[in-house]
Amino acid sequence: MTLMNAHQYRESLARRRPMKIYLDGKRLENPLEHPSVQASVNSVALTYELAHDPEHRALMTARSALSGETVNRFCHLHQSSADLIDKVRMQRLVGQRCGTCFQRCVGLDALNALFAATFEIDRKFATNYHERFRAFALAMESNDWIVDGAMTDVKGDRSRRPAEQSDPDMYLRVVERRADGVVIRGAKAHQTGAINSHWVLVMPTVALRDDEGDYAIACALPADAEGITYIYGRQSCDERKLGGDAASAIDSGSACYGGQEALMIFDDVFVPNESVFMDGEIAFAGLLVDLFASYHRQSYGGCKVGKGDVAIGAAATIAQLNGVERAAHIRDKIIEMNHLNETLFACGIACSANGTQLPAGNWFVDPLLANVCKQNVTRFPYEIARLLQDIAGGLMVTLPSAKDWLNPETAALLRKYLAGAEGSDPEERIRMLRLIENLTMGRGAVAYLTESMHGAGSPQAQRIMIGRLANVDEKKVYARSLAAHDDLEGVEAAIRTGLAGLRAAKAPAA
Ligand code: SF4
Ligand code: FE
Repeated sequence: MTLMNAHQYRESLARRRPMKIYLDGKRLENPLEHPSVQASVNSVALTYELAHDPEHRALMTARSALSGETVNRFCHLHQSSADLIDKVRMQRLVGQRCGTCFQRCVGLDALNALFAATFEIDRKFATNYHERFRAFALAMESNDWIVDGAMTDVKGDRSRRPAEQSDPDMYLRVVERRADGVVIRGAKAHQTGAINSHWVLVMPTVALRDDEGDYAIACALPADAEGITYIYGRQSCDERKLGGDAASAIDSGSACYGGQEALMIFDDVFVPNESVFMDGEIAFAGLLVDLFASYHRQSYGGCKVGKGDVAIGAAATIAQLNGVERAAHIRDKIIEMNHLNETLFACGIACSANGTQLPAGNWFVDPLLANVCKQNVTRFPYEIARLLQDIAGGLMVTLPSAKDWLNPETAALLRKYLAGAEGSDPEERIRMLRLIENLTMGRGAVAYLTESMHGAGSPQAQRIMIGRLANVDEKKVYARSLAAHDDLEGVEAAIRTGLAGLRAAKAPAA
């Protein structure tokens, strides 16, 4: 069914076979009934619901290049730089609505990365991975699946490569090859939305060497495949909303929405040949990682900006409720927050606008600008959060429990002494402070802060790519030419010669 709504999405999750999911020391028999899972499902459900909203339908959907049908943009192979820009705008929109991670972008980024990588593998090895992947892509968009992009291996000893680990399962690998498919073993960490997904796309996490062919595996699996175990990740203050009462809802800061990460263990899971998209082609593992990472670094120029909008809205509101909204330094801090947030958006738009078409036909972001985007994301949300905490004041962390707010013995005292600006509602103030606590220190900080640091690669990964892509040699040609010549012709000739020399040095040998 193309274009599910939120209700149909929830029903589709309930139709999956029983899955092995652990949370807080217990196996979840009915995962969809657990408040943590429910909140995270609500965030994903927004991506379905907004596709039916007349105001947002045009942004949330696209015309498929594979089928010609209207599909959810989260299942779309980008067909232009306008499509790439719309992806970022869509992510900002959904981020504004839930203020947390809506989990669906990893699958979209894996879709576009694998579409391109399988095309390149086939060109070199005359394999038929791309045809298989097209069939998967068509099924993904026509069923409106949410797909988990499973890239990050647990990695064991970071000083050792996959083949050097004392336990070879520290990177997911093929442990058996059969006539009809492969058997995989290993684990993927920080799996965003894995438990809320229909399918999983497994990919290698690093560029690989000759003796690491078993680690060069990319494939698709149903999320409920036999042999997969999920262990839910804890989030700061995640027990706040477990009480199921009014006080828990207030203290949780944002009771309706949440993100989700899980450790995902593949214990000898069989994958049929038609779902295998790379097996042993080590030369292409690095390309696949780079494609996926660039797309996901672009994603952060949308999703984190949407969450930033919530943070800025919270800053302006708490300033109003505290009675300081007109103070010059508060207004300036809010301007600074907007400046930082819009800079991130500008980076997301820029790497999209500068996109190019790949040989496979889908469009790719400008990788240098995507890495610059993500590098800024590792910093600016922290500064926005710092300013938000500055404006909120210390009450954010010394506020009594909502149980005291609702307790008749203390309610009147708190109503009197937690009053803010004349005429404002103290409960609104309490709720806003809890939202700020959640965004900057609680469950929401996973999506807004720590994921900004480490999601789509930690800061050093972007610095390596920026170093690789920035073309400093070309910049040296400009500087040298200007310094060495005092006449116009001399400068121009030196630049032309210098650039031609660089091009010749880069051209593949005949
Ligand atoms: Fe999407 Fe952002 Fe969540 Fe990544 S962190 S899945 S880009 S919402
Ligand atoms: Fe992420």
